[in-house]
Amino acid sequence: MSGGRVIVVGSVNVDLVIRGERLPTPGETVAGGTFERHHGGKGGNQAVAAARLGRPVLFVGAVGDDGFGVDARAALAAEGVDVSFLATLEDQATGVALILVDRRGENLISVASGANAALEASTIEPALSRIGVHAGDVVLVCHELPTGTVREALGVGRATGAWTVFNPAPADGIDRTVLAAADVITPNRGELLTLAATEARRTGRASSSKAAVAANIPRAARSLLGSSAAGPGVGQAVVVTLGASGALLVGPEATTDVPSIVVDSVDTTGAGDAFNGALAVAIAEARPLEEAVRRAVVAGALATTRVGAREGMPTAAELEAALGS
Ligand code: ADP
Repeated sequence: MSGGRVIVVGSVNVDLVIRGERLPTPGETVAGGTFERHHGGKGGNQAVAAARLGRPVLFVGAVGDDGFGVDARAALAAEGVDVSFLATLEDQATGVALILVDRRGENLISVASGANAALEASTIEPALSRIGVHAGDVVLVCHELPTGTVREALGVGRATGAWTVFNPAPADGIDRTVLAAADVITPNRGELLTLAATEARRTGRASSSKAAVAANIPRAARSLLGSSAAGPGVGQAVVVTLGASGALLVGPEATTDVPSIVVDSVDTTGAGDAFNGALAVAIAEARPLEEAVRRAVVAGALATTRVGAREGMPTAAELEAALGS
């Protein structure tokens, strides 16, 4: 198969969900709910999204030394993701998200990052070097890992000549030493506002309120590209995902609006992960960035038509059908 591989450096969680009539208040017990268990974590979801689209995908991350870790590894492997570089960390728990959902879809979420938070920066270079990451590959990284580990993954990926794609989620605690190692970043609207606010504080332009930033998304995105007083910025492009409105591809010279397709959305969880997985696949297929974003937007839209984050990831055939229609 021509084209590169997708190397996901990211998080693995098990999502434990209770759906009930209403959310409990502190100290209260609400009985009568139903329980579901799902495989999650942005990294795991993005890897599955990429694998379903038919690219070779390798996963670099960590689970704990427990039953959830065994299941999480098996779930990724069952989707065709190479888990040879998924570490099992002794004395750590696998990442868990406890999610309560009420009848209106309102939720409460508490996360114990476990092994994800224990994935050390020093493990990244040996893993990427054994994988033999090279130009043409794509290294896709999310921020559900320690920031130092993320910085290392992007930096080592960049040094090999591979494309580096950074999904800055969650967006807190990210500075230019991280952004500068990414060729492309993929914040959603809220994450862009957080990144732009951090940037404004660092460069002494603390006056831009979140409302002002929201009113000018392209300008906020451009503030993260190129050099500033705070150092070099994102290498090639900031791609802002905008839910049902699609995405905005902001490069140093041009801004391109990429609308989404109209779909029957039933569950938007995982849309961003589908987008990131599909974007990485398209870049690994050596498609131009604008075409890659068009494909990612459609993959994100398709993911919203099915319940569940991972379960809803589209296949290559489904993506081609939707692109052709
Ligand atoms: P996140 O899930 O990270 O918040 P978004 O909500 O921006 O990310 O969704 C990611 C992508 O999924 C969007 O760019 C868009 O292509 C697609 N998408 C999400 N929600 C919808 C929707 N309701 N209708 C069509 N496409 C959608």
